[in-house]
Amino acid sequence: MTQAILEVDRLSKVFSVPHGLVARAAVRAVDDVSFSIAPGQTLAIVGESGSGKTTVSKLILGLEQPTSGQIRFEGHDIQNMDRAAHKHYRRQVQAVFQNPYESLNPRLRVRTIIGEPVMAHERVSAAELDKRVAQALEVVGLPASAAQLFPHEFSGGQRQRIAIARALVLRPRLLVLDEPISALDVSIRAQILNMLADVQEEFGLTYLLIAHDLSLVEHFSNQVAVMYLGSLVEAGPVAQVFSAPRHPYTQALLASVPRPDPDHRPPKGVIIGEISSALATPAGCRFHPRCPHAFAPCKTTQPALGKAGDHAWACHLPQG
Ligand code: SF4
Repeated sequence: MTQAILEVDRLSKVFSVPHGLVARAAVRAVDDVSFSIAPGQTLAIVGESGSGKTTVSKLILGLEQPTSGQIRFEGHDIQNMDRAAHKHYRRQVQAVFQNPYESLNPRLRVRTIIGEPVMAHERVSAAELDKRVAQALEVVGLPASAAQLFPHEFSGGQRQRIAIARALVLRPRLLVLDEPISALDVSIRAQILNMLADVQEEFGLTYLLIAHDLSLVEHFSNQVAVMYLGSLVEAGPVAQVFSAPRHPYTQALLASVPRPDPDHRPPKGVIIGEISSALATPAGCRFHPRCPHAFAPCKTTQPALGKAGDHAWACHLPQG
């Protein structure tokens, strides 16, 4: 069996936030989350705003520190890496964020934006840097002349291509794609996705996709993990989860995805109300205030993640 490139093991993150005038409260943004990604595959983490999916990506990128649990990259715990191993990790794991209008420094030319990670990790001549920047631009479908321009001289889609070129210039193994198309015009989303798919195949990249749009996940991912209020509620191969979702929350998310096929019958499911505040996480199953199937145990006992093959879900409803 191929070793996972990234393993997240019982990861938790608790934030202490102001609550009232003087008090503070603990928010479990990520609670006991585990998953792994095989090399060359795409795992999507989906959930509403407040589900904890972005905190998971920040923990993986080292932008936040876990409260407990482990993140292993190529089998090594990223919390306990020596300097050299940590530098290797920072090189091998890159990110593309949602909004290319915010993620690119408007005062820098594209050459500097894309070249920055190279300068931070390697000693290269100006000529070599120009070559690396031109290669990265070519990979994302932009001409080498783009290097001399500023971000405001590009469209939103082109800016996201520049952000992807910057993420690729060090030839990483893992890309964290945090809502990579949600800030873009609908008309160019497919182009960016196709380009990301081509790049993945060409370089054997592994993707961790953070998304709220399930229709994007279905066509772009191998595995999916659904989060709700910090917890993983369902995970498995995309084909299985999408054809036979087992958790009522996943069923409701899928029921809300528009389908062009008139014969398609969406899975049943209705989400009642809004996601609860992370400051007042419901007891028992966190989804129970919104679940159309909630029954007595749901209010008192948190369901454990049960498994059937590669498919896992956390719900008290009988399997079958
Ligand atoms: Fe709904 Fe209960 Fe299952 Fe939670 S455990 S999803 S409340 S049926």
